[in-house]
Amino acid sequence: MIDFRPSSLTAEEEKLRAEVREFIAEHFPLGSYLPCLGINAEASPEFSRRLAERGWLGMVVPKEYGGPARTAVERFIVVEELLVAGAPIGAHWVADRQTAPLILTYGTEEQKRRFLPAIVRGEVFFALGMSEPDSGSDLASVRTRATRVDGGWLVNGRKVWTSGAHYADYAVTLCRTSPLGEVRHAGLSQMIVDLRAKGVHVRPIRLLNGFHHFNEVLFEDVFVPDDCVLGTVGEGWRQVTSELAYERSGPDRFLTTFPLLRYFMMYRLNGGLDREGERQIGRLVARYWVLRNLSFSVARSLDEGRVPTVEAALVKDIGTVFEQEVVRVVRSLTEREQDPDGDLFDRLLAEATVTAPTFTLRGGTNEILRTLAAKHLLRALKGSA
Ligand SMILES: Cc1cc2nc3c(=O)[nH]c(=O)nc-3n(C[C@H](O)[C@H](O)[C@H](O)COP(=O)(O)OP(=O)(O)OC[C@H]3O[C@@H](n4cnc5c(N)ncnc54)[C@H](O)[C@@H]3O)c2cc1C
Repeated sequence: MIDFRPSSLTAEEEKLRAEVREFIAEHFPLGSYLPCLGINAEASPEFSRRLAERGWLGMVVPKEYGGPARTAVERFIVVEELLVAGAPIGAHWVADRQTAPLILTYGTEEQKRRFLPAIVRGEVFFALGMSEPDSGSDLASVRTRATRVDGGWLVNGRKVWTSGAHYADYAVTLCRTSPLGEVRHAGLSQMIVDLRAKGVHVRPIRLLNGFHHFNEVLFEDVFVPDDCVLGTVGEGWRQVTSELAYERSGPDRFLTTFPLLRYFMMYRLNGGLDREGERQIGRLVARYWVLRNLSFSVARSLDEGRVPTVEAALVKDIGTVFEQEVVRVVRSLTEREQDPDGDLFDRLLAEATVTAPTFTLRGGTNEILRTLAAKHLLRALKGSA
């Protein structure tokens, strides 16, 4: 019922990993820069385009839409190495991880030809317009409205926590296209909204450390042409839930704080660790290996045509709790208070401490994921009874 199959890299996949490591060693020599922490990463369109030149953006996009048609495992390898290095992946992250597969699944032929090659080249970036002030876990309650007008729709409403909306070109936005009725999940639709269109206002919501990662996005009579409706009008719920599945199982769900552990080992171990410290670090490393193999097995399952919904939800649940645990352990083993203006390690620890609480919230909270896993398992149990 829960199906994590052991798997390992083929010779070809090992070769790809070596190429990515070489590329990273060239661009980010260890110790020469402040690594980014996972998907909170800095946006560097220039770095995104360099990855694109190597064929490492939109990797699963088929050749007919300008992509390299690589596998989920190959994308896993590239992403894993980028996260370990703390590379600035912020600009292309959403487009690469989920908008490209979403458009591939639900987009019209014209949308595929318009957006996919641009994503693969690192020229167009996306944000996710789902959450609202009163709609997070309960996404079906969104109030952003799209009203039919000649040639398209007028969108009005307010989204919050919209990561990267200040540099993204478009936001795939979940809107209500017919009034909330008895079936709460009906009447929702997804629209590709141009974030530079008239009536769109993007305002920063800063993290405690002043970092600008996400935003409030206001839509005031924003015109969205018919050719930017994604998928079927009224089917937004089914589409958005399948989209969320792309978010859940990747290495980004357990490697966010890996650079912190790495820098701890590099900068703070001059005096070595006592037995208890060794035990704690040993446990973290062992758990990294387990999580890595679980997440890797989900990528392999996708390539083999299985739908690992429960496995993906479990990886995100266990992985994000673990990412927070890494920060706690490293902080407890660090003798002095971290200084946010100090050396690379200090700055990294300060940032990890401030952002760690968000790991178990973004992309669906862990409580919601556990409910999802439990419901699937119950259905499977009933089916096999
Ligand atoms: C760093 C970060 C980046 C984000 N980026 C984006 C983005 O780009 N686009 C976007 O649309 N959103 C984004 N979000 C928003 C994120 O998806 C929501 O925060 C999340 O879905 C939770 O919604 P909420 O904040 O409204 O909390 P709520 O839904 O109000 O939940 C509050 C608490 O109640 C619990 N809870 C709620 N319902 C249940 C239930 N039925 N059973 C058990 N417990 C429950 C939750 O688990 C949580 O602990 C981001 C969030 C963060 C932290």
